[in-house]
Amino acid sequence: MAETEREAMEYDVVIVGAGPAGLSAAIRLKQLDADLDVVVLEKGSEVGAHILSGAVLDPCGLNALIPDWKEKGAPLNTPVREDNFYMLGQGGKLRVPGWPMPPLMSNHGNYIVSMGNVCRWMAEQAEELGVEVFPGMACSEMVYDENGAVKGVVAGEFGRNPDGTPGASYEPGMELHGKYVFLSEGVRGSLSKEVIEKFDLSAGKEPQKFGLGMKEIWEVDPDKHNEGEVTHTMGWPLGSNAGGGSFIYHLENNQVYVGFVVHLNYQNPHLYPYMEFQRFKHHPMVAELLKGGKRVAYGARAITEGGYQSMPKMVAPGVALLGCSVGMVNVPRIKGNHNAMLSGKAAAEAAHEAIKAGRAGDALDAYEADVREGAIGKDLRKVRNVKPMWSKWGLLPSLALGGLDMWTNTMGFSLFGTLKHGKTDAAATGEAAKFKKIDYPKPDGKLSFDRLTNVSYSMTNHEENQPCHLTLKDASVPIAVNLPKYDEPAQRYCPAGVYEVVREEGKEPKFVINFQNCVHCKTCDIKDPTQNIHWVTPQGGDGPNYPNM
Ligand SMILES: Cc1cc2nc3c(=O)[nH]c(=O)nc-3n(C[C@H](O)[C@H](O)[C@H](O)COP(=O)(O)OP(=O)(O)OC[C@H]3O[C@@H](n4cnc5c(N)ncnc54)[C@H](O)[C@@H]3O)c2cc1C
Repeated sequence: MAETEREAMEYDVVIVGAGPAGLSAAIRLKQLDADLDVVVLEKGSEVGAHILSGAVLDPCGLNALIPDWKEKGAPLNTPVREDNFYMLGQGGKLRVPGWPMPPLMSNHGNYIVSMGNVCRWMAEQAEELGVEVFPGMACSEMVYDENGAVKGVVAGEFGRNPDGTPGASYEPGMELHGKYVFLSEGVRGSLSKEVIEKFDLSAGKEPQKFGLGMKEIWEVDPDKHNEGEVTHTMGWPLGSNAGGGSFIYHLENNQVYVGFVVHLNYQNPHLYPYMEFQRFKHHPMVAELLKGGKRVAYGARAITEGGYQSMPKMVAPGVALLGCSVGMVNVPRIKGNHNAMLSGKAAAEAAHEAIKAGRAGDALDAYEADVREGAIGKDLRKVRNVKPMWSKWGLLPSLALGGLDMWTNTMGFSLFGTLKHGKTDAAATGEAAKFKKIDYPKPDGKLSFDRLTNVSYSMTNHEENQPCHLTLKDASVPIAVNLPKYDEPAQRYCPAGVYEVVREEGKEPKFVINFQNCVHCKTCDIKDPTQNIHWVTPQGGDGPNYPNM
């Protein structure tokens, strides 16, 4: 195929992704030097459309970036007023008191927010400072210079036919060149994956680990609503099948975020994370809250869980990885937004120094040092053993030992050193014949819903006349390998019902990809046991359209 010719635009810094990391970087760059040319490109139809982390926000990142955020009208309206933690059994619950936990686990001083709305507000702040923010612009390719350094990205390509050839309304998009390119695509970014591989940035690090987070927004009976209440649970229904747990956050306007995370290192390929979430809502504690209420939105997104020991090297010539493109979630706190913001700020400061000194296209080592040795590294180091303990020893021992380890780490030492994660989540998947099938109750349509009905509540939309963005390295693998060996788990791990094995009498089973349903969670790219599915970005503006997730 002939090489596509594109116009190029020059910037000081090109930022891919308008999440908390990318927007913080953009804001900080312009705070430091109003004359810098900074552009932010976002694949969602608007800023916030793909942001799912409705969230308890530790404001430390925002405090460092925009200390007067309150006066500037940041949508942090609901301080946490009550913090509960329960171990669930099928019909009951056991309250876990807060006192054995180290102070870092407390939510005092944090806010329940819609991160989608926080990002919309941050984009306004960035634009006021002169940042160019372009939603609906998916960055589909990296651009390298003749020495192999990152020079820019391709954004805004539209109108390819399903077979990849240019269609009648084909737009080649543009090359956006920068002295530095920041990849702030969030968890399992497609360009970040390419850059990590190209520059071998994961060498010597533990594999990244992930969870799948699913979330619904409910409007509940005002009598049951308790603005500012935060509840986390562990235990039922996952039991020993997988690690994970739930969160229930009461925000404003009688709304409640009800979410569920399943760690993706589960072995039993029959596990169906979406149905675990649906089953969870039938626990008496949750059912009582939701009864008479209304689900108004649904979404899903992977979350990074590898923490400190899994962070790849985050700089290479011309490029820096920010936020969850690196993986900066503090797992026991289920918080990554504060670190995403701090990383954006740190990357901006390093780039500003470099540009001021006349540099361009080199590795921003000062940024990496800031992340590892500064506030982010300190936050993640203290909790680095919690996830590997959970994976190795299960829930209860890891609660006790993880608590102890977080305490000793708060005092500056660990009895365990730094534990390893071992396998990738894909490699953790076991063979179907060795595990029991799991019987899931049918959704009742009141508290629990089937997958496709719920996907319609994510307002997901993809132009159908384009190449499928869920690419297979080998099209035969799902039926020839994954089906006999793993009962093709894509049918179950995808929270949006994208993958089906269709069986018709007298015919071979067929693997069908309904890419129109994809909510961009990236679970398939992570969990496919043969690592045959490669998620690439569809054209800009496609995907979910989350309201205030
Ligand atoms: C279910 C769930 C609950 C969570 N709860 C909390 C919580 O309570 N508190 C907390 O602090 N953290 C929470 N987190 C973690 C938090 O969401 C992440 O740490 C945070 O989103 C990381 O920010 P980011 O800017 O790196 O990436 P993201 O927030 O994912 O933003 C990345 C942006 O880049 C865009 N993008 C990606 N690729 C491209 C591309 N190629 N071209 C153009 N645009 C692109 C995306 O559309 C997106 O808008 C939760 C996560 C999940 C999944």
